[in-house]
Amino acid sequence: MSSTLFIHHSQFDQHSVPPSHPESPLRNLAVETKLRQTGLWQDLSVQTCEMVHPDTFKKVHASGYIDQLYRIAPPKGMILADADTPLMFNTLKATEEAAGSGIQAVKQVLSGEFKNAFCAIRPPGHHAEPNKTVGFCFVNNIAVAAQYALTHSSINKVVIFDFDVHQANGTIEIFKNRNDVMVVSTFQHPFYPFSHAFSPSDNIINIPLEAETASTQFRRLIEGKVTQAISSFKPDLILISAGFDAHTDDPMGGLDLIDEDFYWLTKLSMSLADTYANGRIVSMMEGGYNLEALALSAHQHIQALAGQ
Ligand SMILES: [Zn+2]
Repeated sequence: MSSTLFIHHSQFDQHSVPPSHPESPLRNLAVETKLRQTGLWQDLSVQTCEMVHPDTFKKVHASGYIDQLYRIAPPKGMILADADTPLMFNTLKATEEAAGSGIQAVKQVLSGEFKNAFCAIRPPGHHAEPNKTVGFCFVNNIAVAAQYALTHSSINKVVIFDFDVHQANGTIEIFKNRNDVMVVSTFQHPFYPFSHAFSPSDNIINIPLEAETASTQFRRLIEGKVTQAISSFKPDLILISAGFDAHTDDPMGGLDLIDEDFYWLTKLSMSLADTYANGRIVSMMEGGYNLEALALSAHQHIQALAGQ
């Protein structure tokens, strides 16, 4: 059996946004197609997402906010939850699966069944704040996973490493001022979501990057900072918010990373996980909007996780 778990949705077209929207079901399809074409699919243990009850979202979101999402969700068609974020008739089921996959993955990685896991899920989550939708995100999937992991007796400290081109504003809002979670976020700055680049508390490690930062400079800039932050925190588990929109071909981001940078980033994370966290990593998909760049970058990330 593979040591890497891959979790995907029960149907690929859940959260069926209008065709013009970049955060589309085609993203998941592109990733899976690439994994099958390259043969990596055969080396993964594939599972379908298990849904989680929406009360679980309330561990990291305001109760009233979650209740309101369920109240306003349309029985058919769509409404806009905010200017960027369409709430479809089938969004909340996808959200229950997306957040559920993190719990499912954490459970099996902590039990030792798998060394690590990748959740190919959407909608993404890292912009979702305690009480509002932001930038395509409704429920903060990685935060739900982190909060769940901390209920295990063996897990006292969790690192969330977010390498999406956009700052993890939601994850930061949820976990600032905590001593059991460290959030390390690398992101283009100044850039959407235009939240503060300074750190609101000691457990938030913001690593802002200038537009057009490319591979060599990126690796030099983040290697020291990420390694230093995670080494000083000594987490029992590393969670990754895996956004692939820092790729040079991404239509939304302005950084210039290449496919192989995502392999390198993953190996860096794995080496830190080996040192502090018994190798345990759970990674959840965030952004990435050029389908080919997304597929190639995710392939590099998963290939590294699978030990290749
Ligand atoms: Zn992003």
